[in-house]
Amino acid sequence: MAQDTIFAVSTPPGVGGVAVIRISGSDSDTTLAAMTDVPLPEVRRASVRRLIDPQSGETLDHPLVLRFSDGESFTGEPVVELHLHGGRAVVASVLEVLGQVKGLRLAEPGEFTRRAFDNGRLDLSQVEGLADLIAAETASQQRAALHQYSGVIGERCRAWSARLTRGLALLEATIDFADEEIPVETWEIATNEIVGVRDAIRADLNSAHPAERMRDGWRVAILGAPNAGKSTLMNALARRDVAIVSDIPGTTRDSIEVHLDLGGYPVTLIDTAGIRESDDTVERIGIERAGRMAEEADLRIAVAAPDAPLTGDVKLLLRDGDPCLWNKVDLGPAPDASMMSISAQTGNGLDAVIARLRKTIDNVQPPADALLLHQRHRAAMSEALRALDVYADLASDDPERIQAVPEVAAQIVREAWEALGRITGERGIDRLLDVIFSEFCLGK
Ligand code: GDP
Repeated sequence: MAQDTIFAVSTPPGVGGVAVIRISGSDSDTTLAAMTDVPLPEVRRASVRRLIDPQSGETLDHPLVLRFSDGESFTGEPVVELHLHGGRAVVASVLEVLGQVKGLRLAEPGEFTRRAFDNGRLDLSQVEGLADLIAAETASQQRAALHQYSGVIGERCRAWSARLTRGLALLEATIDFADEEIPVETWEIATNEIVGVRDAIRADLNSAHPAERMRDGWRVAILGAPNAGKSTLMNALARRDVAIVSDIPGTTRDSIEVHLDLGGYPVTLIDTAGIRESDDTVERIGIERAGRMAEEADLRIAVAAPDAPLTGDVKLLLRDGDPCLWNKVDLGPAPDASMMSISAQTGNGLDAVIARLRKTIDNVQPPADALLLHQRHRAAMSEALRALDVYADLASDDPERIQAVPEVAAQIVREAWEALGRITGERGIDRLLDVIFSEFCLGK
């Protein structure tokens, strides 16, 4: 069944120099033809056209028009792009006219990308990369998302699946021709493929970095006794070299999180200051909570001052490499040379703190060519690995035993094959698709 032709504004809402309306589907060209009075431009040739309301003949705009043929467009369908002048009235009038064209309707959120996926233009891991790319706020997030969007993960999964398919075909041959003499090599070749894939998946799982860390940023908790100057420090850092990307309301009403772009790295600073209250019970809960946040953070910054020395509670939470800051150096010098002297109030020493944070993150930053895996990919690969481990163990312990039950062997391998197919979206993913595509906004 032919799908509806869909349209939507693909540029952000509001007034701009240009607003792009994308039309995708089999009626794209006829719609454009009806709204222009000269022949359609060639595909991929930018051309200015007078755009008219076909009912009244009234001129709506003089947009740049681009056509893409099916198979050569983002969605894999015939696509028309109208690069309109970005005024509200212009955009509204064109949307209204398009809405009246028979067979056309407004796209649902994520529907262009959904069609790209359905038409095999993108695999599911690339769709996730695209969502990350659109959401990327810092240079490192952008790099990570582009890496994902390039399709490396899908390529690996398809290569593994192909090897497993070959292994499976051989196993199935031993089932189908059970009555005949099966050459011993059949099992050997199949096992080589299957165990080879197992080893490759295991190596990748061990070396991969979590993509979430790039997407969500490094979490840095600021710790210290009340009055040490944690809030002042957080405010000072946020106003310094670092640009505030957004304020995130804390997970509890007492903690404050600020999202920063620190030299291209996304960093979330967590101020644990507010979580101590005078009442003893509340204080204990507060300390526990601060402890949990400190433990979950990638890095902790301890802050002490003449009127708020480093407490045992805080010391316990620190790990190797966590910087200790001596604040309010304007009031008195640090008691210990290993502490970095700062004044959160005057800004003294803050550049060194920022440099230190940047260097620490540099050190844990995955290399540019590192494999980044989302939790979803990791889970599916782990599932595949578990199944293939079972096969490998059986095959190495007692080959004759597994050779006696080729159906079981094939079933185990099929489980791994299906798990890998979920990563690229080729298998078993119906419910998942809705979750992933719902994250896209209109026009994407
Ligand atoms: P928190 O409880 O750790 O969050 O501490 P605050 O940031 O609220 O600061 C506690 C007090 O110390 C406030 O009165 C700040 O103005 C003061 N303070 C913070 N930094 C400095 C500093 O560098 N020098 C001086 N003299 N006072 C500071």
